[in-house]
Parts: sequence; C-alpha cells; structure tokens
Amino acid sequence: MADKLDILAVAAHPDDIEITCGGLLIKETHRGRKVGALDLTQGEMGTHGDETDRAREAKNAAELMGLTFRKNLGLPDSALDDNQEYKLAIAQVIRDTKPELIILPHWNQRHPDHSACTRLGYDACFIAGLKKAALSGEPHRPRKIIYASYYRNNEYSFLVDITETFEQKCKAVAAYVSQFGKSGAEGVIADRFKPPDTSNKDIFAPGISIFELMQVRAMQLGQLVGVRYAEGYSIKENILIDDPQKMPVKSI
Ligand SMILES: [Zn+2]
Repeated sequence: MADKLDILAVAAHPDDIEITCGGLLIKETHRGRKVGALDLTQGEMGTHGDETDRAREAKNAAELMGLTFRKNLGLPDSALDDNQEYKLAIAQVIRDTKPELIILPHWNQRHPDHSACTRLGYDACFIAGLKKAALSGEPHRPRKIIYASYYRNNEYSFLVDITETFEQKCKAVAAYVSQFGKSGAEGVIADRFKPPDTSNKDIFAPGISIFELMQVRAMQLGQLVGVRYAEGYSIKENILIDDPQKMPVKSI
C-alpha cells in the first residue's frame, strides 16, 4: 500500500507532468508535501524511444522532482477512451494514495489522449468516493481538482510563481533524453535564447527546443503577474476571497 499523498498529478504520457506542472510539483515537495505522479500510458506510440527508455527516464525525472510516488498504468497509448475499466484503474490509485489535490490536463487539447485523461481523471475522482464502487480500500474523494495548461488554452484561473523551481523543472524534462535529446536544459538555462544545440530534437517547430518553448511560455505568464516564471492553471468552480484588499498583483 502506497503512502498517503497530498497531491497526485495524472497525465497521459510520461513527460506530460514535468512539462505542464513540474514547477508546481517541485515547489510543493520543497514545502514538505508528499507529491505523486500517475502516468496512464507508457508513451509506446511516440516516434522516439521505447517503453524501457521512457520508464527509466520517468524514474529519473521523479527523483529530480522529489516525488514520493510514481506509477504507470500501462493503458494503450493513443487509444485512451471513456472506458469504465480505465476509470476504475485510476480510481483505485486515488483510493490507495488518498490525495487531497489532483492535477489533471486542461480540457482543451490537441492530443486525444490528453482530453481523454481529463475526463477519465475527473470521473475516477468521483468513483473513488463511492462506497459501493468495485474497488478495494476506503472511499476517498480528492477535495480539489486543478487543471494544468498544455499549449492550446490561453485562459487561466490562476498562475503559480515557479521562479525558484523553473531550473529544476527543466532538469526533470531533460531526463527524457529519448524525447528531447542530449543537450538538455543546460543550453537554455545557462545561455538564454541561444539557438538550441543541433542534438536537441525539434519536436514542436524547426529550430525551437522544448526548453526554449517552456522558458518563453513561463516568462510570458510570469510577466502577467510580476514574477520571472509562472505556470497557468484552471479550475471549474469559483475562487472564494475573504479580503479583496489582500489580493496579489496590482491592477494598474
Ligand atoms: Zn502527452
């Protein structure tokens, strides 16, 4: 039986979590919280690397982020759908680890696995709290679900300052050598906006590495709230504020 977690991030493929919410996860581990990751597939349909590479890289990335739990459900890559069996598998992990906060992918997605993950994850949170569900262990329903931004949504409910953890987030992403090449994060961190080393794999656009993309995005979001680097998150319910005078970020 796994230890109780404070936070569980759920994503479709190994490396999704690092890229989208790695900064927050590392920040939470620095606060002493127990943080875990659940990858639904092994990313076996990806062009680069195989399951063995991805599993080893995911383990290294988990260590770099300070995670206390990481599991891969081995569901079929590029074939995730609204399936009760998958929901129960995720719900069982939620029951086993009892997180209070769940991080799912934002619902607006290009990759069908990412949108399926959002729906499966939400339903699994619901099912995990049902007493009569076909699951072992005590019912547990996470108190809060937040949605990490990928690259399609550009509206956010809130932004998280990741200035202190951005560099470590880049190192965790760089652990996926099969996906992003050997030159990794160093080029971007040490030498900002230098064109990437040619050994970097340009998976998003020619000449643009994942690290440049993450940096530009995090800086753009950070600029909106007066910090160096930020990550964007969405929620479906409202935020309750007790004292508007204490709200951070100046209007003018
Ligand atoms: Zn993905």
